Amino acid sequence: MDHSPGTWQTAAPLAEQTAPMVDPFGRSVTYLRVSVTDRCDFRCTYCMAENMTFLPKKDLLTLEELDRLCSAFIAKGVRKLRLTGGEPLVRKNIMFLIRGLSRHLGGGLDELTLTTNGSQLAKHAAELADCGVRRINVSLDTLDPAKFKSITRWGEFDKVIEGIKAAQAAGIHVKLNAVALKDFNEAEIPDLMTFAHAEGMDLTLIETMPMGETGEDRTDQYLPLSLVRSRLEERFTLNEIPYKTGGPARYVEVAETGGRLGFITPLTHNFCESCNRVRLTCTGTLYMCLGQDDAADLRTALRASDDNAYLSAAIDEAITRKPKGHDFIIDRDHRKPAVGRHMSVTGG
Ligand code: SAM
Ligand code: SF4
Repeated sequence: MDHSPGTWQTAAPLAEQTAPMVDPFGRSVTYLRVSVTDRCDFRCTYCMAENMTFLPKKDLLTLEELDRLCSAFIAKGVRKLRLTGGEPLVRKNIMFLIRGLSRHLGGGLDELTLTTNGSQLAKHAAELADCGVRRINVSLDTLDPAKFKSITRWGEFDKVIEGIKAAQAAGIHVKLNAVALKDFNEAEIPDLMTFAHAEGMDLTLIETMPMGETGEDRTDQYLPLSLVRSRLEERFTLNEIPYKTGGPARYVEVAETGGRLGFITPLTHNFCESCNRVRLTCTGTLYMCLGQDDAADLRTALRASDDNAYLSAAIDEAITRKPKGHDFIIDRDHRKPAVGRHMSVTGG
């Protein structure tokens, strides 16, 4: 398959609009997150076990199939597309897919973005900007290189910082994501926030979600953001603002820094009532909820026919099964994940 730049523009048509997707609770589905690979060059302790077994490469959708699937969703009303993983930038020829999908920007698609660990960002930043990527999320849980190594197991702090700088230099707006972890970055959160804001980045804090076996005890890592927030309020003035990025974060503006701070609180505050998202894996499985196991196999529909009508019907059927919400709980007795699959399968 020729993955050289420019081949999509002639090969792949723009999405033809079909009926929009509305779930049984009246929520329009306008946001698709796509895990383009379950593989990663880090092994963050809250996300994966060190000796993870990944999917056989033969089970993955090709980049052309991923493009066709994403385009079908755009035709059905998806306006925001986020590529994630695993680490999206370690998927071979990923820029081929990103360049291809960028043809929808200014058409059906308002935003093409990604969530990355930043390790490969320096290499790809300029091309991402050229493809119309305007904002990205970079995950960074600490500013201490030694702690960064201990939490990611395999990551290089300096490379991530280099990647963030390259993205900013290319004109991409970077938002930092940090998972709040008890006894790990608890005390560092004010510093992370002031660093982010001084560098022109928003910071979003995430509660650990009980997904997949990691070999670590989740109850030892869990830090409620309600607690983080009340501690921050002892030092900073947090003003509620209606700012929205299409995702589940609730934002405040920090008076002292002038920057924005987001909270993603699946455990202390259920964020499902306004959920507009569905998640596609790299094997073509659609999860209608991050915190539930029910899923739809779109790969069979995709491969059954070149006619998108079949695929479109399979997507419609899946949307009728979008649940009202997740039921994450930290199981204090059994210490088992609430959802068996890892975050890297559906990409957070
Ligand atoms: N590798 C990329 C990265 O780290 O940004 C994209 C995929 S990663 C699964 C997406 C986000 O999910 C990251 O911000 C990561 O910190 C977060 N994450 C991973 N496992 C999590 C868990 N169990 N609970 C909460 N957030 C988690
Ligand atoms: Fe990789 Fe992201 Fe999971 Fe860390 S959080 S192991 S970078 S997929």
